[in-house]
Amino acid sequence: MTHSENGFFNEFGGKYVAEVLRRPLDELEVAFKEAMADSSFVSELETIQRDYIGRETPLLYAKTATEILGGAQIYIKLEGLANTGAHKINNAIGQCLLAKRMGKKRIIAETGAGQHGVATAAACAKLGLDCTVYMGEVDVRRQQPNVAAMEMYGAKVHPVTSGSRTLKDAVNEAMRDWAANPDTTHYVLGSALGPAPFPDIVREFQSVIGKEVKRQAQERNLDVEALIACVGGGSNSIGFFAPFIDEQKPRLIGVEAGGIGPGVGENASRMTGNASRDGILQGYKSRFLLDEDGQALPTRSISAGLDYCGIGPQLASLGKSGRIEFTSALDDEALNAVKFFAKNEGVLFAMESAHAGAEAIKLAPTLPKDKAIIVNMSGRGDKDIFITCPVFRPAEWKEFLISELERLNDSKDIHEAELMRK
Ligand SMILES: *Cc1c(COP(=O)(O)O)cnc(C)c1O
Repeated sequence: MTHSENGFFNEFGGKYVAEVLRRPLDELEVAFKEAMADSSFVSELETIQRDYIGRETPLLYAKTATEILGGAQIYIKLEGLANTGAHKINNAIGQCLLAKRMGKKRIIAETGAGQHGVATAAACAKLGLDCTVYMGEVDVRRQQPNVAAMEMYGAKVHPVTSGSRTLKDAVNEAMRDWAANPDTTHYVLGSALGPAPFPDIVREFQSVIGKEVKRQAQERNLDVEALIACVGGGSNSIGFFAPFIDEQKPRLIGVEAGGIGPGVGENASRMTGNASRDGILQGYKSRFLLDEDGQALPTRSISAGLDYCGIGPQLASLGKSGRIEFTSALDDEALNAVKFFAKNEGVLFAMESAHAGAEAIKLAPTLPKDKAIIVNMSGRGDKDIFITCPVFRPAEWKEFLISELERLNDSKDIHEAELMRK
């Protein structure tokens, strides 16, 4: 099914929230439906998608990769060319525009690795909205480049000190803030999950990816066998798949983080792993990695964006029905895919997106040459230098960091800048 029915995708989804959040969620649902039926809103959204995000993003024929693998033609949707470097801006801009229409001047968001925080902060800067991003204290420390980017865009980053001080706790804080300030504030949730109507809203704003791909594939007369996307919460995949869900073809393939192996705590495989269960967490029913008491299990992935214990309810439902096939890629397979597409296509995949790239490398040789497969490169890999460089060039990278530290310690300019801040 392409839309929820009263917030449900078969048994998944729903709105399992405290009473105080029901009204803001109901109001949001009404406002979203009205906005999408209003041609002036849609045209304003299309203009900003074109001029600010840089849509449409290209569909690249990966000629060399195709020849090397010797099977189906590989095409790459270059979503990483969107402003800010990934698909998350599609949702952030859409929701911020909606918030403005609802008369809200203040935006809050949760972020784990910081990618959604950066996208939301940028969207708020563009649209003149006040922005607060909740981020676990542990993540704030680990993700300083993204914290700095959010602050450059003018956002306030609020470190969360409760619980495990990571994403889950940041979501709880954001919900608490929204419950206390529903009239002034909109909560921009970052993936196609959470309580209804967020899974529907996020899918619709991300479906621009799939709509463009459908047109681009038709223009080139491609015989598309499969679409492949990585799946964290599920926003890039469901947006990419959305216009094809009700059709028999193409195959839709979601790739989860296989981490370092199949053991509990070694991956983030909610659909393919052996520790996954149906559960209700953070306002929605879906598939989660949970222990027997229903507590979230630890997850692991080389890509921060796939490292989460839950998956969007629509994906859980379409996985169960079989319309979406799920598989996973290991950390090492994703790293190899980064290298493969960089060297052969001049395209640097984000670690998340490289999970989809890894599946394309496996699938293409098994298919005939007149078929096409399309990989969504949800983001570009510039952000991942702190992960890829220590793996690809460990000694040189360490030396570089040490010399950078020395340079900073010696720099007169930086001492002066610090004094000025105080
Ligand atoms: C956040 C992120 C993801 C995972 O999120 P989804 O909601 O599953 O799309 C994937 N790729 C990139 C580049 C990301 O930043």
